[in-house]
Order: sequence, then C-alpha cells, then structure tokens
Amino acid sequence: MNKDIIKMRKGIDKISKRFLMKNKINRFFIDKFVMPIGKKRKPIKLEWENSYRNSIIPICPHCKEMPYSIEQCQFCGQRFIKEANNE
Ligand SMILES: [Zn+2]
Repeated sequence: MNKDIIKMRKGIDKISKRFLMKNKINRFFIDKFVMPIGKKRKPIKLEWENSYRNSIIPICPHCKEMPYSIEQCQFCGQRFIKEANNE
C-alpha cells in the first residue's frame, strides 16, 4: 500500500477519535446541564425546513439544530408541541 494512503488513514483515525471524544464530553454536559434547563422551557412548535432532494427536516426553533427527535431537541432540551397532522 502507498505510504501516503497509510498516513492519510492514520490522520483520519486520529480526527475521528478526537471527534468521538469531544462528542462524548459534549453529550455529558448536554445531558447533565443543558437538557434539564431546556426541559423547563415551554414547549414550542417544531419548525420544518426544506432540505436537498425535496425532503423536509425538523429544525429546533431554539438552537436551529436538527433535534433528532420530534418530542425534544437532543441539543438544547427544548420540548416540542406534538402536531396533530403530519404533513
Ligand atoms: Zn434545540
């Protein structure tokens, strides 16, 4: 195998490991501090945004991240009002 490719792969491994560590630490803080505070906020309506390929993705109105859940934002703890009709 080419030496450059091996080097590149090691670099990618390093970056992804660092990313996972950072992610774990972030998750810890989010679960311990951010989520409990966010839970206390009044539930608000989830926003939907057009993304590529004609699909719509949910957007948290509070932190503008994709919440990964339609009940509560996984980043800021904001809860959402359940919509009766799913368009
Ligand atoms: Zn959020």
